Amino acid sequence: MNGKLIDGREIGKQIREEIKERVEGLKAKGYTPGLAVIIVGDDQASHTYVKNKQKSSVEVGMKSELIKLPATVTEEELLAEIDKLNHDDTIHGILVQLPLPKHIDENRVILAIDAKKDVDGFHPENVGKMMIGQPTFLPCTPYGIIKLLERTNTPIQGKHAVVIGRSNIVGKPMGQLLLQRDATVTYCHSRTADLAKYTTQADIVIVAVGRAKMINETHIKEGAVVIDVGMNRDEFGKLCGDVDFDRVKEKASAITPVPGGVGPMTITMLLKNTLLSAEAVYANQK
Ligand code: NDP
Repeated sequence: MNGKLIDGREIGKQIREEIKERVEGLKAKGYTPGLAVIIVGDDQASHTYVKNKQKSSVEVGMKSELIKLPATVTEEELLAEIDKLNHDDTIHGILVQLPLPKHIDENRVILAIDAKKDVDGFHPENVGKMMIGQPTFLPCTPYGIIKLLERTNTPIQGKHAVVIGRSNIVGKPMGQLLLQRDATVTYCHSRTADLAKYTTQADIVIVAVGRAKMINETHIKEGAVVIDVGMNRDEFGKLCGDVDFDRVKEKASAITPVPGGVGPMTITMLLKNTLLSAEAVYANQK
């Protein structure tokens, strides 16, 4: 393989070790960071994500609270649970696992979370702060990708980054964070007329679409850095990304695998945001 593997498992592990040390520091002062996760319904994939988030938070020494609600829960009942957590001093991060059942308005739910505990970085107040470069909770997946690039000493400044996908949780904030680090950013999406025309000019390609192996070597410039956010199943039911890894790895200078690339970083940055939240509360109480 020409392309260097960007090992999200290993980088995530290192960052979680650093988080653990800081959690221990807070605990020594009698203060335990707490993360609450609310899950609605019984979607299997969501339950797996939530279980991993809980397990990781416990591993770094945080208090972890899981609130399971049935798919039939009303919006008002869910909002009441969030309100309780907003006022719970032992909880510094609140996450509502998405997607929610259709009868619940996701926007209302996100707005109900205290912006100071919005460790997913989805609250419009935090999104606005991110846009204007003020300190805030950064959305975990793009934040994790920035860490992958930083920890592999991948230059960003002056580079051309192409982001494929413009969702509010991945694509859009990803482009913003790269822009803040002085990349020249191009967004592509489902209506982009000639995708390869843009991606073949990119030094850094971030793919966040959700279509198995849609990006191959014809889309990539020799030596590009390729970050694959996608989580899909291939024709054999095996987990795979949006990038055809085997076809791109020889051409890329560095590439993330799926699994083991972006995924572990998303959870890690959730823990980081929870830690930052707890540290901010503690700093204000001193
Ligand atoms: P969304 O479905 O919200 O967004 C997908 C984006 O891809 C849209 O902007 C869409 O364009 C664009 N798109 C769709 N088809 C094409 C195409 N043919 N060419 C170019 N662009 C296209 O997805 P998310 O952003 O939430 O997630 C993307 C992927 O990343 C999914 O596989 C998801 O599972 C994964 N994911 C992984 C995470 C991790 O931790 N590893 C975390 C979050 C997501 P348009 O706006 O025009 O519709």
